[in-house]
Amino acid sequence: MSLGIRFLGAARAVTGSRHLLDVGGRRVLLDCGMVQGPRQLANRLNEQLPLEPRELDAVVLSHAHIDHSGSLPRLVKLGFRGPIYCTPATADLAAVLLEDSARIQAQDAAHLARRGHQFQPTYDPDDVRQTCRQLQPRAYHARFDVVPGVRAELLDAGHILGSAQVVLDLEDAGRRVRLAFTGDHGRRGLPILRDPERLPPVDYLITESTYGDRVHPSYDRTFEALASVIDEEIRDGGRILLPAFSLGRTQNVLYALCRLISAGRIPPLRIWIDSPLSSRVTGVVERHPDLFDAETRAMLRAGRSPFQFEGVRYVEDVEESRSLNQVRDGIIISASGMLESGRVLHHLKTSIGRPEDCVLTVGYMAEGTLGRKLLSGYEHVRIFGERHALRCKVRNLDGLSAHADSRELLEALRHLAAEVRHVFVVHGEEDPALRFADRLEDAGFRAVTVPVYKQWVEL
Ligand SMILES: [Zn+2]
Repeated sequence: MSLGIRFLGAARAVTGSRHLLDVGGRRVLLDCGMVQGPRQLANRLNEQLPLEPRELDAVVLSHAHIDHSGSLPRLVKLGFRGPIYCTPATADLAAVLLEDSARIQAQDAAHLARRGHQFQPTYDPDDVRQTCRQLQPRAYHARFDVVPGVRAELLDAGHILGSAQVVLDLEDAGRRVRLAFTGDHGRRGLPILRDPERLPPVDYLITESTYGDRVHPSYDRTFEALASVIDEEIRDGGRILLPAFSLGRTQNVLYALCRLISAGRIPPLRIWIDSPLSSRVTGVVERHPDLFDAETRAMLRAGRSPFQFEGVRYVEDVEESRSLNQVRDGIIISASGMLESGRVLHHLKTSIGRPEDCVLTVGYMAEGTLGRKLLSGYEHVRIFGERHALRCKVRNLDGLSAHADSRELLEALRHLAAEVRHVFVVHGEEDPALRFADRLEDAGFRAVTVPVYKQWVEL
């Protein structure tokens, strides 16, 4: 009989989260994320999934972010018809995000075709609809059978709305082991969300390591730093372009701005959310107040919303988005978060040559992305194929991350050291992953592995 796991993505990388469990011949996939990064490489990896979809029995999805969910419709297109378990909020959010992903791929294909390049979207809206029919929402703490021999429980990961840590009881030929997967692990005190729950004792642990070599400033310090940046930029007279992921970061930034304005720390200012996806996602988030932390619930009870307050405007149509070219002050929050696509690029094109404007990055910028290039101080960058001199300011705020830093993650996991037989460190670029593995060993974890792509490990 067999009991093991194969790491099919996010192995010494941060995107394409996919881990395949084999329990007595039954196959369960943890996450089915899209690989993001340089287009050609990413396309190839997203097209040819490294597993046989028809031999897969079920999927457990940790959360809705595309690097965890974005290849589910590809899996379905290639013949997977089994259940996809996730929390109800994740199901709602995934429906919105996957539909958007299909739309972006169709747009890219049309755009590239005009330039004589071939690009076949990895799935279309029909595949997304079929995927949504296979979603099986399960509440936090409700234990359920994934397949015979695999029982699961989802715990709040405190990373984005609906995010889960997955605890699995595996049984094969009379042998029982317990495995936990952190998914993306959040932070204590993150706006809007509840704190991550503590994992129970387990035999095996798969942990993320996005910031395995970094320590974030505290949230209070970050709020203060955000206020200073905004104050300075208001004095400078330019506008602030803030690229943000539609899910998570956009809502956190709004929450921060709402708090700073109501505390009188920054003056009221105009804020545009220019991303149809961000508007829709925020709508979904607002429909799940039961998942909010006490502070946000109290705010709502007092009749204030961190998503709708004076000065905030959700831009819907393209005309209004274009009209933002005239805007010379205030904040434009737009997607995509790493400046790889979306309306944010049009706004960047307008701002990049203006020394008074500021691009304020508040999230992780993967290698190879335009966001990373701006942060790395490139003198020229390409936007829609055109070369532009970088004249605007580029500033970075670290502390808004929804991922635990190395210290927070270690604190969240340390109590497991005595029981865990083997830890697998995933979802981090090579250096952070290796550094975090060292820290786990220092904290008393016995066997720690940073798996490579397609590595198989017997449990
Ligand atoms: Zn995530």
